[in-house]
Amino acid sequence: MNSLSKSIKKASLYGFAIFLPAVAIYLLNIRPVQAVAVQSPSLSIGLPMDGNLEMGEVLPAVGQGYAMMDVTRNRRNRFGVVELVMLVKDAGFQVSKRHGGGHLAVGDLSARRGGPVDRHASHQSGRDVDLGFYAVDNSGQPVALDAFIAFDRNGYSVDPPMVWRFDAARNWTLIRRLLESPHAQVQWIFVADHLKNLLLDQAAAQGAPPDLRSRAMRVLRQPGKNLHWDHFHVRIACPPSDLPHCGDRGAAPTP
Ligand SMILES: [Zn+2]
Repeated sequence: MNSLSKSIKKASLYGFAIFLPAVAIYLLNIRPVQAVAVQSPSLSIGLPMDGNLEMGEVLPAVGQGYAMMDVTRNRRNRFGVVELVMLVKDAGFQVSKRHGGGHLAVGDLSARRGGPVDRHASHQSGRDVDLGFYAVDNSGQPVALDAFIAFDRNGYSVDPPMVWRFDAARNWTLIRRLLESPHAQVQWIFVADHLKNLLLDQAAAQGAPPDLRSRAMRVLRQPGKNLHWDHFHVRIACPPSDLPHCGDRGAAPTP
């Protein structure tokens, strides 16, 4: 090969090297890369009160901004649909990122394959999780509670009495992130009316958007006489990819 043909070949290689990315950029410009829809492998079957879970995702016992309560680790009800597990991880992380200090205390999710769980009517299909409240001590410092503590209408702990206060700011940040989560659609958050009122007062004081506050008004709910004054019970709607196996319709909002 003489030097002329060598340089022609070299030039054409360079040209090709420039040409390929140019084609790629051109194609990308006219055909934007589509986000690949990630099909979660988990499947919620049936109703939260009468259902099962396939390929459930385990929530690690500790993560950034959250920790599963010891009692829950021992019960091993740590499984949920992927969407629920991501929701919990993200909410704990976001609250700690914003406020620092303290952590989200996580209670039961579902059993590995779903089905009946002790102490719960629901939690059967991987769409329910119990979350403890954020609290502060009397000097306003965050406390890491490893138990569900009940709070009265003034936001004081009931047992032990008046040792801790319901941390409305952190708890509202949690609710807000749950309602705005990109990971799952929250269907219900069961909580006592008197704590719901503290949360909505906090939202108003912070100037939260009216549509967010009205959604919180609908989603936060005290289930009958079952007060839920010591934890939030969060239920997500059926992930669209789990339909039609997953059941929502006609289901009474039973905690
Ligand atoms: Zn629950």
